Amino acid sequence: MTYEAVIGLETHVQLRTRTKMWCGCANEYGAEANTNVCPVCIGLPGVLPVPNAEALRKTALTGMLLNCDVPSYAKWDRKNYFYPDNPKNYQLTQLDFPSTIEGFVEFEFGEGIERVRINRAHLEEDVGKSTHFSDYSGVDFNRAGVPLLEIVTEPDLTGPDMAYDYLNALKGILEYGGVSDCDMEKGQVRCDVNISVRPVGQTELGEKIEIKNMNSFSGVRRAAAYEIERQIGVLREGGTLVQETRRWNDVVGITENMRTKEDAHDYRYFPDPDLMPHRPSEEWIAEVRTLVKELPLARKQRLMADFKLPSSDAVVFVGDAALGDYFEVAAKGAKNPKAVANWVINNLQAKFSETGSTVADIKFETSAIGELVGLVEGGKISSKIAQDVFAEMFESGKSPAPIVEEKGLSQVCDTSELQAFCNEAIAANSASVEDFRNGKEAALNFLKGQVMKVSRGKANPKIVGELLKKILGS
Ligand code: ADP
Ligand code: MG
Ligand code: ZN
Repeated sequence: MTYEAVIGLETHVQLRTRTKMWCGCANEYGAEANTNVCPVCIGLPGVLPVPNAEALRKTALTGMLLNCDVPSYAKWDRKNYFYPDNPKNYQLTQLDFPSTIEGFVEFEFGEGIERVRINRAHLEEDVGKSTHFSDYSGVDFNRAGVPLLEIVTEPDLTGPDMAYDYLNALKGILEYGGVSDCDMEKGQVRCDVNISVRPVGQTELGEKIEIKNMNSFSGVRRAAAYEIERQIGVLREGGTLVQETRRWNDVVGITENMRTKEDAHDYRYFPDPDLMPHRPSEEWIAEVRTLVKELPLARKQRLMADFKLPSSDAVVFVGDAALGDYFEVAAKGAKNPKAVANWVINNLQAKFSETGSTVADIKFETSAIGELVGLVEGGKISSKIAQDVFAEMFESGKSPAPIVEEKGLSQVCDTSELQAFCNEAIAANSASVEDFRNGKEAALNFLKGQVMKVSRGKANPKIVGELLKKILGS
């Protein structure tokens, strides 16, 4: 019997906000332990939470970026459980009325475009962080109460690679929308992976097993691949699978049982009595909608269509949104946008890494690269000289034409001047002249190179070629 895998992902993402979800403490990574805390986020009695308006906006915005609806009613529920990193003994979350519901994510997978349905993206809060030392453990509550978005897919993913590509696409969308920095190193994205297998052709889903708390996408891919094989192995041997929660042991490369799966009633969910439901108005929703930006996939497709870029160039501009924005302005109205893209991707990026600068530091006008391309294509300067002009542009912020003018870099097209260069090269390389006359075509290219050298790169190579042939009589 052949089996197929079914995967659903629950992705937790820390929102980028200045302060925490229910108090004014900084939402900041890396501060000294327990310095960003207050009575609210460490759960002292007698305090009341105040919702973070920015987190509510970013949640709705995320929903919109994931093509979700934003219902006009959302509420808060307490999920009760005891754990040392959970100071209130409950986590605020949204059980049955989440802030956003029913969307989808489209992303490139293999040769095509895949669509994965989103069940919901709801808002909850992060917990503290335990650290285990040699003979004691410590808890840092700086992270407790940081706004955390949970993005839940339908069980639409069919394998580890698809899960991996979905996660990368999701990260790209969230970064684009500015809702989260998605810094994996700082634990800003964590993922629960739900996996089942079933015989091909069966419509019913198999028994779901959840791998908790993955903090890298490649880890998700490895864990899913292992777990799918494990489940198939169990079934092949006539065993049965039961719902359970497992953890990924990255060192050994296996999943291990953590606990049998808890049910919702184990958490004694109930509506939070301290918080009013969130009832976003039409105006509020419309205002958030103005923040929706073009998604990465759509941008890639548009860059390829509008600027005739190959996929590899478009990927660079989608991956670095600031560079992409810069390119779009620089290429606007340019006759050859692909050439502008080459300058931006190769030369400009090289200058950035050479000087440790960014798009924000560029001194020359946004139209300058297009002008430079125009000078090369119009035969005014050679592409070699263009490199020098570009370096000067980057350094001083001047436009290309004045640089060419001032430094006398214009390509020489004047025949008598070129003739002088040719004569000089011919005189100095009589052996090559001999070779050429004896039918060695390659010698002409060598001589052409020598003329370019004599002219310090300024001679028009096309005219030089013609001129040499004429002089040498062929
Ligand atoms: P729970 O209530 O246990 O959290 P949900 O129904 O909310 O379960 O689903 C949680 C995640 O598990 C979702 O991403 C969903 O798509 C996925 N999922 C549900 N059933 C299965 C299954 N049989 N196989 C794989 N994934 C599943
Ligand atoms: Mg769950
Ligand atoms: Zn606080």
